[in-house]
Amino acid sequence: MELPDITMTIDGKSVPHVAGFDVLNPSTEQVVAQAPDCADDQLDAAFDSAARAFGDWREDLPGRRQILSDAADALVANAEALAPVLTLEQGRPVDQAAIEVHAAAAWFRYFAALEIPTEIVQDDDAGRGEIIRKPVGVVGAITPWNFPLLLASWKLAPALLAGNTVVLKPSPYTPLATLALGAVLRDVVPAGVLNVVSGRDPLGAAMTAHPVPRKISFTGSIATGKRVAAAAADDLKRVTLELGGNDPAILLDDVEPAAITEKLFQFSFSNSGQVCSAIKRVYVHESRYAEVVEALTERVRAARVGDGFTEGVELGPIQNAPQYARVSGLVSAAIDDGATATTGGRPMDGPGYFFEPTVLTGLVEGSAIVDEEQFGPALPIMPYSRIEDAVQRANATNYGLGASVWGTDTERATAVAGQLDSGSVWVNTHMAVAPNLPFGGAKWSGLGVENGPWGYAAFTELQLVFRAR
Ligand code: NAD
Repeated sequence: MELPDITMTIDGKSVPHVAGFDVLNPSTEQVVAQAPDCADDQLDAAFDSAARAFGDWREDLPGRRQILSDAADALVANAEALAPVLTLEQGRPVDQAAIEVHAAAAWFRYFAALEIPTEIVQDDDAGRGEIIRKPVGVVGAITPWNFPLLLASWKLAPALLAGNTVVLKPSPYTPLATLALGAVLRDVVPAGVLNVVSGRDPLGAAMTAHPVPRKISFTGSIATGKRVAAAAADDLKRVTLELGGNDPAILLDDVEPAAITEKLFQFSFSNSGQVCSAIKRVYVHESRYAEVVEALTERVRAARVGDGFTEGVELGPIQNAPQYARVSGLVSAAIDDGATATTGGRPMDGPGYFFEPTVLTGLVEGSAIVDEEQFGPALPIMPYSRIEDAVQRANATNYGLGASVWGTDTERATAVAGQLDSGSVWVNTHMAVAPNLPFGGAKWSGLGVENGPWGYAAFTELQLVFRAR
């Protein structure tokens, strides 16, 4: 496959690089490209150009709206070129990769049109107080390897709407589509407003320590998120952290297993379980447990796993070798401890980081695959008898990204949902994510939210203008 332009974008131009690093196709373990390894002076140049561009960019809200809308058009126009790049580096089936490109465009379109209402907080004999939203300045945006373009759009669109300029860095595992996005937008966004650099993990640390950015918007693991928060504290950079999840799904005693099996499968296994807000543990009322395990086992067993370029494949590989080793280790430790894999349970024959989609029973809390985020195609299903216990077990964790409750009586399910400690709680669905819906983690799953007016506000400094009467 011929790759599009994967050079870095700095100050509106393609920049040559001296050093590079290997990018692998996780379906074949073959090196498919050398990505640019951003040098220190190139990172400085990217931040300097963003700082220079800020002055004009912040002044023209109608112009910014038009450019966000043009960016959405450019993404759609280039979807057929970008989707295969995503599949090549990330592994996901190419039709699903195309959905990601179109979803990223939808985020740009949403923010292009987002109303920003005037906020008057006081208007009386004493005076008039108005809230003004000012851009923070230059933003450093750092993304993970599971949805490189979509998660970048969650940052770029609101940050740019608010009048900020950005330096974006993708994961070293999946830099190619993001670099290609930078090249596509060179003709759309004024020079310096959006810079795209790539490099290994220390480049992320260099961005958080850099004196120019006033905000870091980060999506990734909890461990790295804590490092970002600590580094940002030095000069009180603003941070938004979208971190890992270990989402519980609680199935009440009035669920109809046959009606929800496909949804449970998709919300747990799509992108081979590598979704921050995937269902990662399931609690089922004991009266329905056997039925749910059987139905889900059958569906998971039927899942077509393979290279994302092969027609009809539903699930691609795990994205990288360390994650493959981690998922393999968690599943084999669970089985060694007495868990049963009702389907799957083993790595598949290579090449490629393929792991059998796995359903695990016979587990309780205390097992690592229940207590920690597995981020892979393996799902523990556990019975409960009292709903109070299910809620307590669901909440007994430092994670708090999403959670869901499933039942025929929606009012009752909603009441249970209200007891769960997470940034999002869904009833009879999971992972309901859209540009207008706030998304963020409670507890260690994050700090702040993305999307909707709240995500926009996170890229602004709030200023009160108070006029005395
Ligand atoms: P990661 O934390 O290893 O890496 C994320 C990004 O941070 C990469 O670009 C990486 O290069 C960079 N980075 C590494 N060290 C850094 C440092 N010291 N300072 C700054 N940046 C640094 O995460 P990952 O393995 O790429 O992604 C998987 C994790 O991301 C999972 O835990 C998943 O749940 C989480 N995630 C969360 C969300 C969300 O919205 N809450 C969405 C997707 C993924």
